[in-house]
Amino acid sequence: MSPRPRPGVLEVEPYVGGESRAPGGRPPLRLASNENPLGPSPKAVAAYEAAGPELHRYPDGASAELRQALGALHDLDPARIVCGAGSDELIGLLVRAYAGPGDEVLYSAHGFLMYGISAKSAGATPVTAREANLTADVDALLAKVTERTRLLFLANPNNPTGTYLPAAALRRLHAGLPPEVLLVVDAAYAEYVTAPDYEDGRALVTAQDNVVMTRTFSKIYGLAALRLGWAYCPPAVADVLNRVRAPFNVTRTAQVAGLAAVRDQGHVVRSRAHNETWRAWLMENLRGLGVEITPSLGNFLLIQFSDAPGRTAHDALAALKEEGVLLRGMAAYGLPDCLRITVGSEAENRAAVDALRRFLA
Ligand SMILES: *Cc1c(COP(=O)(O)O)cnc(C)c1O
Repeated sequence: MSPRPRPGVLEVEPYVGGESRAPGGRPPLRLASNENPLGPSPKAVAAYEAAGPELHRYPDGASAELRQALGALHDLDPARIVCGAGSDELIGLLVRAYAGPGDEVLYSAHGFLMYGISAKSAGATPVTAREANLTADVDALLAKVTERTRLLFLANPNNPTGTYLPAAALRRLHAGLPPEVLLVVDAAYAEYVTAPDYEDGRALVTAQDNVVMTRTFSKIYGLAALRLGWAYCPPAVADVLNRVRAPFNVTRTAQVAGLAAVRDQGHVVRSRAHNETWRAWLMENLRGLGVEITPSLGNFLLIQFSDAPGRTAHDALAALKEEGVLLRGMAAYGLPDCLRITVGSEAENRAAVDALRRFLA
């Protein structure tokens, strides 16, 4: 007899992050984790450094100043915002609070990996719905709703496909759900989106009792190391998250750097502009090499390879890694023919395309 975890826990495939090391100890080109190639706002770095002498103080457990600033920036009620140690923490807390053994957590076939991991670790059952053209399918999702469904996660735009549901489709998805199912719109890449028919979900949250929007500082804000995210919630859901989260779940350094980052929207504008330019450049130049690219609203592209021996995604991943160019393998997402590339700096993008050209030659 020995201690045993709850059912489901040992079915969790531990999350494997993007690679960060190149062979031979060379400095790698890190295009595997959708990090901002411009880095964080220098003002956020300064705020982080200035917090050093106060490390003996507990953080504000309510993240009040940061929530005020987020509310002002996005025109939201700060009382309905809950901050977390990355949006991953909030995803996990939502699943734990609303689902358990016997319950189902629904998402689309190539949805973000953390939804299934969180469901299993809560003892709930992950359920996926097929996609059409690598895009979430409203009817397929609704067809998978049962009386056991507790949460539906939709990353919009989705990682790793980069595709999205326009506002009208998002509203149709919500309208088709029973009121007791919580729709979580994971808008991790919302700041990158310029499509006019997109909405991040906040209007639905404001108007409905069963919709939550999550956001992160890990992507356009370039603060992945600090672990900072937030959720905009109906009051009852905010109350639940505030009960189940740890009292000091967001560090003081994350709060002060996040606040400075929110106040430096110029950095966000520059990061979005860089992404627009280089995502288009990458798309054109990669297509020119004969691989298939899915149009993306995020800071990454999904590349589809052929199944010709020596030319597969698996082969490409290894060959590029040999050259110090790190992309992300997609087998865990059910896309073994694909690799995901993050839009990097100009030098990184050019080096990645050159390496891929050599591989495909
Ligand atoms: C990167 C990402 C997140 C962010 O996770 P953090 O825990 O905030 O770093 C959430 N959802 C999706 C779809 C992502 O790609």
